[in-house]
Amino acid sequence: PTFETMKLKNDLLRGIYSYGFEAPSAIQSRAITQIISGKDVIAQAQSGTGKTATFTIGILQVIELKRRDLQALVLSPTRELASQISQVVSNLGDYMNVKAMAITGGKTLKDDIKKIQGTGCHVVSGTPGRVLDMIKRQILTTRNVQMLVLDEADELLSETLGFKQQIYDIFTKLPPACQVVVVSATMSKDILEVTKKFMSDPVKILV
Ligand code: AMP
Repeated sequence: PTFETMKLKNDLLRGIYSYGFEAPSAIQSRAITQIISGKDVIAQAQSGTGKTATFTIGILQVIELKRRDLQALVLSPTRELASQISQVVSNLGDYMNVKAMAITGGKTLKDDIKKIQGTGCHVVSGTPGRVLDMIKRQILTTRNVQMLVLDEADELLSETLGFKQQIYDIFTKLPPACQVVVVSATMSKDILEVTKKFMSDPVKILV
């Protein structure tokens, strides 16, 4: 497939081409349409395969820009990655007037709160601790979140980082019908557990 045959919004297609992409990568060819169709997806893919744009394009296609509330949430294991993802959302969504934000520890809450309450926010990309904190404080409203992405899920759920409980707590705050997309370089037992607990009939894609 090409990006055209994916029936993407015109403004999104413009964003993709002006970002410099010409044709979809393997994972993009296989996963974007599944994500757009609303299916839960597990993609086994390494960094460098185009995984970030895969879920970003999926998110940008399904969110409703007329609304101002949070509709997609991306969790990743590091502040740097969370910020990069937020940047990719803004870049690919350059012609869509999308409001994307990185929510990570290590900076003050005040500016984030101001931005959310001022301009609104469609897409949040963050690390689990700070995102959960903002949800508990009711700064982020999860009522209309329609997609959760766990990026680098093997890392996210590993014992070493200790995010697992926070991620489970975030799941409980999301609408039951929320779509779940998991991207991971490897499949661990923790990912299988997430699959069983929080995903329904997921499509598995291995690139
Ligand atoms: P990722 O796997 O998300 O870490 O992306 C790896 C790199 O591939 C990034 O620099 C992307 O900008 C680039 N990339 C992703 N998709 C495409 C595409 N369809 N065409 C060209 N470059 C791409």
